[in-house]
Amino acid sequence: MSASADNGDQTVEGIRRTLAARLVAAGHDSAELDARLLVGDALGLDLTGMVTGAKRILTKDEAERVEALARRRLAGQPVARILGIKEFWGLPLRLSAATLVPRPDTETVVERALELLRANGAADRSLRIADLGTGSGAILLALLSELPNAHGFATDISSEALQTASRNAAELGLGDRATWIACDYASALTGTFDLIVSNPPYIPSADIAGLDVEVRAHDPRAALDGGADGLDAYRALISQSAGLLASGGLLVVEVGQGQSADVEALMTASGLSPTGPPKADLGGIPRAVSARRLPR
Ligand code: GLN
Repeated sequence: MSASADNGDQTVEGIRRTLAARLVAAGHDSAELDARLLVGDALGLDLTGMVTGAKRILTKDEAERVEALARRRLAGQPVARILGIKEFWGLPLRLSAATLVPRPDTETVVERALELLRANGAADRSLRIADLGTGSGAILLALLSELPNAHGFATDISSEALQTASRNAAELGLGDRATWIACDYASALTGTFDLIVSNPPYIPSADIAGLDVEVRAHDPRAALDGGADGLDAYRALISQSAGLLASGGLLVVEVGQGQSADVEALMTASGLSPTGPPKADLGGIPRAVSARRLPR
């Protein structure tokens, strides 16, 4: 038998199955879903199109497009990076080299912020929200999609990230409710805010080398590296935020595993009051830490 590529079943369904089997053999645990997404992207088909077109035989061009994406995946690139898009809070978000791939865990920050605002009866108000280090815009855009009268101010030190986020906002029809500011955390913000959110870099510098290769080699280091103890970003952004929150205003941040007590202590030291225990993510890890500025 020759060593050339397997030219077996060249239908949409056949190609998808072959790719899934190759990904399983290479040890990928989401092989079925990955194969579906990659074949769909290469052929421009959504899930329905893949089902109705299952028996169609691929052209040579199409087969080559699938193969090019398959090779990138087999070489270790995350599917979200290959597609250039990731869903967060049901919203499709474009990515760039300057943005993290949004994680499902980060939806915990959105949930905590919304539950606190709703408990206050504030969800329909004309809230001023800031998202510090917005990346793809994930947290802010999720909040704007739920809070019809809110306006968002998103900062990032990377202008490339801000361009990606503003394009996402425009494509989701949220662009007229968002303002983009290039700065470190809250350093260039003025006025007062009802809610400040952030998923800052929080991995201790020495731990980065041990992260999963899909994170270490493909997410921007500036979005991961939280300094020697992982808390540098919180030290900066919590004291800045305390000075910008309206009376009763809320700060909600994502934290890494084991960081919630330290981050709460920083909030308390800046005069903020924790709103209750941190909210856990789906894996049971305390993920969203929140505090309120009490009326003085
Ligand atoms: N949650 C990301 C990870 O574990 C880290 C993101 C961050 O540092 N904010 O890879």
